[in-house]
Amino acid sequence: MEIRLAKSYGFCFGVKRAIKIAEESPNSVTFGPLIHNKNEINRLKENFNVGLVEEIDEVAPKSRVIVRTHGIPKDKLKILHERDVEVVDATCPFVTKPQQIVEQMSEEGYSVVIFGDKNHPEIKGVMSYAKDPVVVLSVEELQKALPKLKERVATVAQTTRKFSEYTKIVNFLMEHKKEVRVFNTICNATFENQDAARELSREADVMIVIGGKNSSNTKQLFNICKENCPDSYLVENENELQPEWFEGKKLCGITAGASTPDWIIEAVIEKIKKIKV
Ligand code: SF4
Repeated sequence: MEIRLAKSYGFCFGVKRAIKIAEESPNSVTFGPLIHNKNEINRLKENFNVGLVEEIDEVAPKSRVIVRTHGIPKDKLKILHERDVEVVDATCPFVTKPQQIVEQMSEEGYSVVIFGDKNHPEIKGVMSYAKDPVVVLSVEELQKALPKLKERVATVAQTTRKFSEYTKIVNFLMEHKKEVRVFNTICNATFENQDAARELSREADVMIVIGGKNSSNTKQLFNICKENCPDSYLVENENELQPEWFEGKKLCGITAGASTPDWIIEAVIEKIKKIKV
């Protein structure tokens, strides 16, 4: 069986940057998981003593706190800066951008529409910079929220959303409001991995998607692969591989989410190589 990697996969710029920041800030804690990959978080703990706190009150005085890649709400960042701690900001610049946009647009009097999942840490952070934002995942939700919006609307999208879905939100706003400011805040890294996964999954007869099961971009990669290759599987590491997935297969495609480190991908490939097909 041939094993082929997608042309683009794995760590994106923002995650590489955050991990480098964490490695250069040993004996610290991250505020919320740095990235959506618990294996990498464990590695940072073991090798660099980078721990994890979930609440502000868990942050010890005089400690060093790393702000996660997805960013944190504005009020929490403010409290951290006011405390006697060193704040190291590892927020991806592509996430800082929509935070800045919605803050500025709110100040200029626009209603803010965020296309994304209000329970996702990135969106919780972005929401906190806007005044009364409307957060939607579909045109139906937007329709319900329409009376709340002014005639001047600004819109941003969660970095990992599909462009085609965002255009539906934008088109609906254009049809119903006088002025619509559209910001394309979807991240290219997501597109590149998705396009490469689509291409490879059309050829492969088994696809392995490696990444955190709570990672939004990994789940999207998995859905894309599943559309083209019914025998697609999502695994967090090599221990989850099942030998029967590979029986009689000729081409095994591999892709990985934007927060999956190379050492996990290599371990998965090594394990697949040892499976008898
Ligand atoms: S996927 Fe894009 S926005 Fe998200 S961390 Fe990576 S580079 Fe930043």
